[in-house]
Amino acid sequence: MRIHSLSRSRNLLLIFSSNTAISIIFYLATAGNRIFGNFALGFSISILGSTTSLKTLSTARSGKSTFARVNRLGNIYNDNIAANKRKSRKIIMSGSKSSGDVVGGKKHEVAIHWFRNGLRLHDNLCLLQATEQSSTLLPLYIIDPDAPFAQTTGRKAGAIRANFVLESIEEMNTKLSEQSEGKSQMIVLQGKPEEILPEVVKQLGATALFYEREPAAPIRESDAKVLDRIDTKKVKVCGFDTHTLHPMEHYLAQTKDQVAPSTYGVFTKIFNKMSVPEEVPDVSIDENFPPLPLSIGDLTAGKADSKDACQWKCPTLEELGYDPEDLENRFESGIDFVGGEDAAVALLDRMMKRTQWVCTFEKPKTSPNAITVDTTGLSAYVKHGCISPRRFYHELSKVYAKCSASKLSKPPVSLHGQLMWRDYNNLMAYTTPKFDQMLDNPVARQIPWDDDPKILDAWKKGRTGYPYIDAIMTQLKQTGWIHHLARHSAACFLTRGDLWQSWERGAEVFEEELIDADWSINNFNWQWLSCTAHFYQYFRCYSPVAFGKKTDKDGEYIRKWLPQFKDWPTKYIYEPWNAPLAIQQQNGVIIGEDYPHPIVEHKSISKSNMARMKAAYDEHKATVAAASKVKDGPKTLSKKRARTKK
Ligand SMILES: Cc1cc2nc3c(=O)[nH]c(=O)nc-3n(C[C@H](O)[C@H](O)[C@H](O)COP(=O)(O)OP(=O)(O)OC[C@H]3O[C@@H](n4cnc5c(N)ncnc54)[C@H](O)[C@@H]3O)c2cc1C
Repeated sequence: MRIHSLSRSRNLLLIFSSNTAISIIFYLATAGNRIFGNFALGFSISILGSTTSLKTLSTARSGKSTFARVNRLGNIYNDNIAANKRKSRKIIMSGSKSSGDVVGGKKHEVAIHWFRNGLRLHDNLCLLQATEQSSTLLPLYIIDPDAPFAQTTGRKAGAIRANFVLESIEEMNTKLSEQSEGKSQMIVLQGKPEEILPEVVKQLGATALFYEREPAAPIRESDAKVLDRIDTKKVKVCGFDTHTLHPMEHYLAQTKDQVAPSTYGVFTKIFNKMSVPEEVPDVSIDENFPPLPLSIGDLTAGKADSKDACQWKCPTLEELGYDPEDLENRFESGIDFVGGEDAAVALLDRMMKRTQWVCTFEKPKTSPNAITVDTTGLSAYVKHGCISPRRFYHELSKVYAKCSASKLSKPPVSLHGQLMWRDYNNLMAYTTPKFDQMLDNPVARQIPWDDDPKILDAWKKGRTGYPYIDAIMTQLKQTGWIHHLARHSAACFLTRGDLWQSWERGAEVFEEELIDADWSINNFNWQWLSCTAHFYQYFRCYSPVAFGKKTDKDGEYIRKWLPQFKDWPTKYIYEPWNAPLAIQQQNGVIIGEDYPHPIVEHKSISKSNMARMKAAYDEHKATVAAASKVKDGPKTLSKKRARTKK
């Protein structure tokens, strides 16, 4: 058993009776008389390997159909996690009269609200239902210290996103504990959710588990592992699909054969038939807010003086293995991306005050290389649920109502259109198997990418020799955020444009470094930019020189992010290799010594890459034609794309 070192002198070891050998260390509060305010918890957990074997995801995915029911509030409670377990699992439709959650007004004695996204009190149906239906409630966050805040299993978030989530958790904890006057607080445990959560359920005797689902496959896969280990005869599992404007199943209910529309245009038609559900009331943390379960005391029974309480403690960035120095420049994009609902609401309010800007917003007209964020900058807050996408959508509607209809921009380029892209990306990801890879992904063109780690590394580190691209990658590294068209430029450059590396590698880097990293949106966009799927005009290519110049002739953006070029003559700022040696010497940057030569010659390589794309597309066509001759006929490939009933 591994015991994490503690900074506090008085501590107590508590051992969960469990086959997973979980050890939990409670810090005893050094001061304070509040019963729960100081209670718990710097839980630090070591898991010494579980004896329980887990079902693999593919097993879960092979389920025949998705169970789904829709309630009045427009939320869906579908168990698409392990369809083969349906018989034994009781599915709840909380929020509807028939939910069965509060039968005859009886609340759950002990319930757990498992936070992941949804770190907010406004428009949070899951938390609202949990508070209304429970006598006592454990607000729980689980961090896997081996891969904190991973989306793809095992791929830890970079320091900037990790810090953002920690700040959001801290803020939620402050709200819970201060507004409840110490009756509640966030409990943060470290370990694998599939090992910790079932143990906590058991230890507390919880009869209900509330959590918000996410459409992304790896999250659903990990949820399946958790739910596999919970006895659903004893525990009501209440999942909420509020991560997007509409639950994915609502879209699919509108489609033929439950296949996601293959274009945004068709998606828009479906979207327009539905109205975005209104927000639910804010969760108020008042005297009626359910306190922490009394049974939490059982965790310390016999181990502590009962008047002592444990103290909540979220691990620090350093404790999770990050280097705080990585945060030094994180606000340099021009918005202080501080995690949490308060900052999210303040930023949304600030943006919504810009009436004309909101009404006439057209994404392609915003600038990839503006010095300060040229769009709303809300993506990290939306991703982590600090702001509800529905609040965002409805606030936009309110602003639109103030403008003349003829001036309003429209989807796909308007801000409503951006949120619709988000839902569409999620829907594609939700319905497409192997969405994060080329092989066995039925929407992906098979393209014979090169695989050169040195080239990938040069791109990732901003050492390609193209200042526009290197400035983008530097901004990404230092702040976690880059403009949408900067993402376009960098992604095109890595893949079909110049370096001919797989989009999968690029998506991995973005998933690690973006503050708003979202598995579904990220993979969708990488497929798009590499002309792997969704977009096929490979002959339209972003120039790493000309494209940036369109919006930033003087190269201010490059000067900011690559300070060695601060005083460089404008004439050479995008192409420093063309500067005479005297100018290089004068400005203290010798190309080939202080800054790399261009990694490729864009004009020629982009041309030859187009020829490679054409060949790959031709081969794809031939494969489809050959497939059409076999028994299943011409629809083989598209049939495969039919939703997987994961
Ligand atoms: C290669 C690549 C990878 C990307 N990876 C991610 C990612 O991991 N996470 C992420 O949230 N966005 C991603 N995007 C989409 C987009 O670039 C960002 O959402 C946007 O730049 C965030 O800035 P904003 O909040 O100011 O956007 P705004 O323009 O203000 O848009 C408002 C909101 O709409 C959503 N949105 C905007 N653009 C898109 C889009 N194209 N697709 C889906 N949703 C969108 C976001 O939630 C955003 O906050 C990626 C784009 C590319 C080209």
